[in-house]
Amino acid sequence: MLYKDLCRYYQRLEAETGKIAMMKILSDCFKKADPEEVDKIAYLTLGKLWPDWKGMPELGIGEKLTMRAISRATGVDVKKIEDIYKRKGDLGETAAFLVSQKRMMTLFQKELEVKDVYEAFKKIALASGPGAMDMKVRILTGLLVSASPIEAKYIIRTVLGKLRLGVGEATILAALADAFLGSDKYKDIVEEAYNKHPDIGYIAKLAVKGREALEHVKIEPGVPVRPMLAERLSDPAEILMKAGGKAYAEYKYDGERAQIHKKGDKIWIYSRRLENITYQYPDVVEWAKKYIDAKEAIVEGEIVAIDPDTGDFRPFQELMHRKRKYDIHKVMEEIPVKVFLFDVLYLNGREFLKKPYAERRKILESIIKPNENITLAQGRLIEKVEELEKLFLEAVSNGCEGLVVKNLSEIYVAGTRGWRWIKYKRDYKSEMADTVDLVVIGGFHGRGRRSGTYGALLVAAYNPDKDCFESVCKVGSGFTDADLAELPRILDKYKIPTKPKNVVTEMEPDVWFEPKVVMEVIGAELTLSPVHRAAFDLVRERLKKPAGIAIRFPRFVRWRPDKAPTDATTSKELFEMYLRQLKKLKE
Ligand code: AMP
Repeated sequence: MLYKDLCRYYQRLEAETGKIAMMKILSDCFKKADPEEVDKIAYLTLGKLWPDWKGMPELGIGEKLTMRAISRATGVDVKKIEDIYKRKGDLGETAAFLVSQKRMMTLFQKELEVKDVYEAFKKIALASGPGAMDMKVRILTGLLVSASPIEAKYIIRTVLGKLRLGVGEATILAALADAFLGSDKYKDIVEEAYNKHPDIGYIAKLAVKGREALEHVKIEPGVPVRPMLAERLSDPAEILMKAGGKAYAEYKYDGERAQIHKKGDKIWIYSRRLENITYQYPDVVEWAKKYIDAKEAIVEGEIVAIDPDTGDFRPFQELMHRKRKYDIHKVMEEIPVKVFLFDVLYLNGREFLKKPYAERRKILESIIKPNENITLAQGRLIEKVEELEKLFLEAVSNGCEGLVVKNLSEIYVAGTRGWRWIKYKRDYKSEMADTVDLVVIGGFHGRGRRSGTYGALLVAAYNPDKDCFESVCKVGSGFTDADLAELPRILDKYKIPTKPKNVVTEMEPDVWFEPKVVMEVIGAELTLSPVHRAAFDLVRERLKKPAGIAIRFPRFVRWRPDKAPTDATTSKELFEMYLRQLKKLKE
């Protein structure tokens, strides 16, 4: 196909707003194209040269260099180009105008074909090293010299990353079905293939071959699979019913979804949005090589940030620090991670998408060698609503967001959201507005940088009705190095061998303290927890749940030597804060 013909389709697409009409225009374009170039047309129409997950360079040339190329191709100086651009507001239109003004026209010039333009774009994207910029300008100039005005417009828009035809992947997939399977009503077939092999060019070429080729598309290590997503419900009874009455419920870890591909010694990690994030996790790469007992595998899990001093989970935002190309090994130490796997899609040449979850989970269990870095998502077989509620509270108190409940007999359908997985999350989220004052009742020995002192402290609220101290949370964050070094001096004089009678908790710290020392604490929010005991009676009575009030992501603010333990925040106050938080969210 001549590039100018493709440009005419682009022009028609731009003038059209209806999705069906746009799909039809594209379908017509695909039908007219040579089978060898449908892939290139699919990429170019999205303004791309290959799928993003390949991690290959993008086209992107800046405006300055683009103007230099237009200037060289048309003989008009850059200053004048800038003026025209200011008036027109679009560098593509500017180039079209200048090319149309050119005197010596293209008598003997070969017309540009789609594949010529694609190859030139590819060279522009791949040019690297010293002299790369010059090379890019030279290639672009070459294209513009051969271009007609309409071609110049779209060439410039494409290299600037501003093609914006309003066509997305879904429209292209429907157009492929329409063009090669006879109707867009078969778009599911094309979509299903794309979900398993999300490379629009590859799928376009298969579509040309027909339905059977699409239906036989295979998943393979190195090529991401579009992830299956969960539906959400907040009523545990309804969840269990929808999940088939008997389900596998797993902790919902609050991290980054990762699809880990292994092929011999080669590892790829893809995000939920199919970005290649391998470079962010050199540690996970090493663990995958070592602990996934398979030659080839595709597994899925959640990467979670860990507090290096306490081993507790950190909020998923911490993983953002890993988004950098330099110093990754340093960041790796500051923000260590763990991986919790929950699915296997492929193993040594066999695909498992069509196998029920119960079977996939068993296979997954069988290929992970015991270690503390990559493990399976914590979960249990659940048959009763109360068991589900209990596990939910357990998950939340262990720093998770809630549960993902999985239908045991369901298959993995790539790229879809459905009831095969149901997420059960806390349905509130807010910042704790106030700090609270809590009493230290226990200590956990520090590791690493914190060895020799405490890594975290167990703290409690005061219950004046029972004159006892009810645990609220484990605080490991917010301490400076100086604070940490001071902990034994401040606390060790209150050490006692067993749990004091006036302390209520389900937690077992390494060391118990008499409740004497008060600290001020802030956190992300108040939650319910089965291991903490603050306001347990009130929660049971009023909210009908066997849980205490706890604080999620608590941080030490300062010591309160001015406060006696009985001046600490009371359990009842915490309960009222929790109710206010719930109410605020419902408003
Ligand atoms: P959401 O992002 O709220 O739609 O919740 C679904 C996400 O939860 C998945 O995409 C995973 O990243 C994450 N997740 C955490 N733990 C699990 C688990 N055990 N099973 C499935 N997904 C999980």
